[in-house]
Formats: sequence, C-alpha cells, structure tokens
Amino acid sequence: MTIQLTDSGLWQTHGHIDGKWVASDSGKTFAVVDPATGEHLADVPDMGAAETNRAIDAANAALLTWRAKTAKERANILRKWFDLCMAAQADLALLMTREQGKPLAEASGEVAYGASFIEWFAEEGKRIYGDVIPSHGADKRIITVKQPIGVVAAITPWNFPMAMITRKCAPALAAGCTVVIKPAEDTPLTALALVGLAKRAGFPDGVINIVTASHGAEIGAELTANPIVRKLSFTGSTQVGKLLMRQCSDTVKKVSLELGGNAPFIVFDDADLDAAVAGAIASKYRNAGQTCVCANRILVQEGVYDAFAAKLAEAVGKLRVGLGTEKGITQGPLINAKAIEKVEALVEDAVSRGAKAVLGGDRAKPDSNFFTPTILTGVTSNMRIFSEEIFGPVAPLFKFSSEEDAIRMANDTPFGLAAYFYARDIGRIWRVGEALEYGIVGINEGIISTEAAPFGGVKESGIGREGSKYGVDDFVEIKYMCLGGL
Ligand code: ADP
Repeated sequence: MTIQLTDSGLWQTHGHIDGKWVASDSGKTFAVVDPATGEHLADVPDMGAAETNRAIDAANAALLTWRAKTAKERANILRKWFDLCMAAQADLALLMTREQGKPLAEASGEVAYGASFIEWFAEEGKRIYGDVIPSHGADKRIITVKQPIGVVAAITPWNFPMAMITRKCAPALAAGCTVVIKPAEDTPLTALALVGLAKRAGFPDGVINIVTASHGAEIGAELTANPIVRKLSFTGSTQVGKLLMRQCSDTVKKVSLELGGNAPFIVFDDADLDAAVAGAIASKYRNAGQTCVCANRILVQEGVYDAFAAKLAEAVGKLRVGLGTEKGITQGPLINAKAIEKVEALVEDAVSRGAKAVLGGDRAKPDSNFFTPTILTGVTSNMRIFSEEIFGPVAPLFKFSSEEDAIRMANDTPFGLAAYFYARDIGRIWRVGEALEYGIVGINEGIISTEAAPFGGVKESGIGREGSKYGVDDFVEIKYMCLGGL
C-alpha cells in the first residue's frame, strides 16, 4: 500500500467479477502513477475480452434476483453504500488526489458529489411510476410499466474518478439493472475502492462488476458487441463516444453519451464583473481546467473587455500550483504528458497568431505535468483554441460587440454541453438563455453540477441526461400492456 489510508481495506488492486477480486487471465498488469510526482502507486490487472465476457455473464445471472427485489430493498443497500462512501470520504479523497492530481479539498468535494448520486437515486428508485392511460376501447385498458433495461456497461473517464461512476451506476442499480464498469486507466484505484465499499454495503455477487485495462478498446469491443449488454453509458472523448455508438448499432443498444464540450462563458457589458470573475475562476480553473463543462471560450463585450481582463488576472494570480496533497494548493497537475503537450500546442498556436499571454503561458516546472494558470488576450476565432477543447488552465478572452455576435460565436461549434453568461438585464437573460444551443446554461453562475439537476449535452456533446428525476429514464424500458376482453 503506497498510499497511507486509514482503512487499508480500501486499497484494492484487482478487478471484481461475480463477487470476487480477480487478476487478469494473463497475469498481466499495468502501472498507476501519480501525475504530480511520477511515483509508481500500484499495478492493476490488464484485462481483456475474456474477463469482460465473464463479468457480463455474472451481471446477467445476478439480474434475475436483483430486479425482483423491491425498490425499497435496493434503496436500503444503496443508502448503505452512500453512508460508507461518506464515512470513507478522507481515504477516497486521498486516493483520488494521488492518482488524479486534483487538490484534496476538490477531491473531498467530489466524494460528496459522487456519493450524492447514490443517495439521490436510492430515493428516486422508489418513484419509477407507470401509467394507466385513458383507453381507446370500452373493453380495453392501457397500462404502462417501466422495467429495468438489463445489464448495463459503464465506461468512465479519469477527470471525475468517482462521480462519473456513481452518476451512471446509482440510477442503473436503483432501477434494478446490474452493471459492468470499465474505469479509466489513469484512475482505477478510486473506482476499485468504491466497488469495495459497495461490496460491504451488501450488493449481491454479480450485481456490480469492474474490469480494468491499460487500453479501453478490447473491453469496449466486448461490452458493445455482447448482446446481453442492453445499455452503454459512456463519458469521455467525442472520438471514442462516436466509435462506441457505431459499435453499439449492431446489437441496437440504448446509449447514453456524455462527450466533449466547448463551453462559451459570455460576459455582457451589464454584468456584475466581480461575480463574473468569481464564476470564471470556478468554471475555468476547477480541476486545473479538466472538466467537460469548463469555460473554454471566454467571450467579453468590448466595453468591459479590459476591465474584466484586469480583474480576472488579479484573481488568477492568486491561484497556487503544486501537489494536491499540500495545504492551500488550488491547481494540481494535468493528468499526463499527452494532456500537457496538447495545452502547450494550443497556447503556442494562439500566441503565434497574435494572442498575448498576460499571465502564464507555459509549464510551471519544466518536464512536469504542471501548467501555469494562463490568460490569453486578443484571441480570435481563427485560432485552434476557439474550436478545440482545451482541458487545461488556460482562459482565452475573445471580444464581441453585440448580443447577436455573442450568440453567433457561442453557437458556432458542433458541441453543446454547458454555456455560461453574465448579464443583469432580464430581457437579455431570457433571450440569450433561450438562444444558446446547449444542454446546460449557467446564468450568473459558474458551478452548475448537482445531483438534483439534469446534466447532459446536445449536438455532438451527447445523448441522455444524468442526475435528477430524469436520470433513471435511460435505464428503464417502457412496456405497454393492453388488457382487452373486459
Ligand atoms: P480521454 O481523452 O478523456 O482520456 P477517452 O475517451 O480516451 O477520454 O477515455 C474515456 C474512457 O474511454 C476511458 O475509460 C478509456 O479507457 C475508454 N476508452 C478509450 N478508448 C476506448 C475504446 N476504443 N473502447 C472503449 N473504451 C475506450
């Protein structure tokens, strides 16, 4: 155990199939490293199609009894899981900070956020109602029931190692489905600890399975080709999401996809600039800019552009880069070398075309994964940074003149996950709120995620909604029963 946990039982380095902790068939493993220090943390099984196939069979076998339980029985186990997660908050946060890099306070916040989905769906699972629909014939009755869709595959990313799993699995489990999880290769330790807690909470064998691998492709191929899996829920890159959607078409699986974003953050000239700065800091620099709802393009109206840039620079200057385990640090490392190279390339491209780095612009330390929080001014839409997701602590400031311009620029992307804007004029708030082609709009607000609200995108940002009363819809099928001969 390279990480000192209070509860050593949370140190799990095996996959979990049919209630047992297992190695890969080949005995092969892959390394999990700390992105801040490069320290080797653990080796976990490098699994493939055969183990995934067994996990799917286990989930299928467990489905019959799990779906037959009452919603309340399932809810009681989910509630126990929630309580155990919260009791283990400090250990889970430490695991997360070490394998993912985010500061401890943020990691601890993610544990609470991740656990909140378990608590929420434990309750929602009891309210999966059907209908009695006024009938088309006097001797007939129309009834609908919602039934669990079946075995669910969940493929998750590294930026929220816990919450992306609970957001998918909690509604699936509450609805009576069983699951096979494929966590991101960068962050399997939090995921495995989470499954360990589920085991303690009393989920029967086979209900929750987890398979790990250094590359997702082989497991993904089995999860999408296997006809037993009836639903794929994926969060990750647009490229992989499109591939998985294509793969799912052969067996016509239901898919939920939460893919890339290119969030505009619009500051109108009637905005409260201090509030806009606070919102931009929260939205842009959380998790060092590595969330799919992070502000990607900051669009500022010309009359307040200089004032906003100055205030933002003052606030960004106070961010502290360093090890997530150290007190007072607000910016951890990026996840790996590839991630930091991409951010560097985007900044270089912008600067070479005339943008100016008024703050930052390069790595905090050479050869490390730490990038200095950056502000670019004079950014224009012909630069790569206008159309590509940055996934790093870089705020590019674009200038616009009219409300129409802002809306046109904001919608000029194939993505449509989150958008933000700051304004006080009520007419403008309604107009812009309705015109933005996004699934989520933060109005005078930079933090929009909560288990109580529907999270999801339009256009190429995805399909489906997670969280809220709508979050179970993706894991049930509506069955219509026509009762005749009355
Ligand atoms: P990111 O660029 O954020 O790492 P990815 O889409 O590559 O996003 O990864 C998200 C998740 O998808 C991870 O769990 C990863 O292992 C998995 N993944 C990557 N490629 C594939 C694939 N071909 N099939 C299935 N899963 C994949």
